[in-house]
Amino acid sequence: MAYDYDDQNIFAKILRGEIPNKTVAETDHTLAFADISPQAPHHVLVIPKGAYVTADHFAADASDAEIVDFWRTFAKIARDLGVTPDTSDGYRMISNAGVHGVQEVPHFHVHIVAGRPLGRMLQAQ
Ligand code: 5GP
Repeated sequence: MAYDYDDQNIFAKILRGEIPNKTVAETDHTLAFADISPQAPHHVLVIPKGAYVTADHFAADASDAEIVDFWRTFAKIARDLGVTPDTSDGYRMISNAGVHGVQEVPHFHVHIVAGRPLGRMLQAQ
């Protein structure tokens, strides 16, 4: 089954400039901006400019150039925030997908969350 991309999602509107954002980094293929509802002192969303719904969609269908650009931008942001664990206390990268993943915005994104202890990743059932 193929992904059906909804071009009315919030991040598509941000990419078209219809909704403002606090940009952290921008390249040919990637945009990063502050989450509107930060869950920690640092909370950045990194998104590809292409129309991909989830991480698996992006990894399967994006070009090599898009994929390399995305992850190099991700790394630069983590480094620029000063949160990489080689020099600091680290961060969490999250990418929610679909209903069980509780994905609110159907445009692939990774959250970089940092700046406080984040606890265990999942609650025990
Ligand atoms: P998801 O649950 O899809 O992984 O997370 C979507 C994230 O997008 C949430 O953390 C939410 O706060 C953020 N978000 C939703 N609408 C906007 C918006 O209009 N601007 C920004 N910057 N972030 C948003």
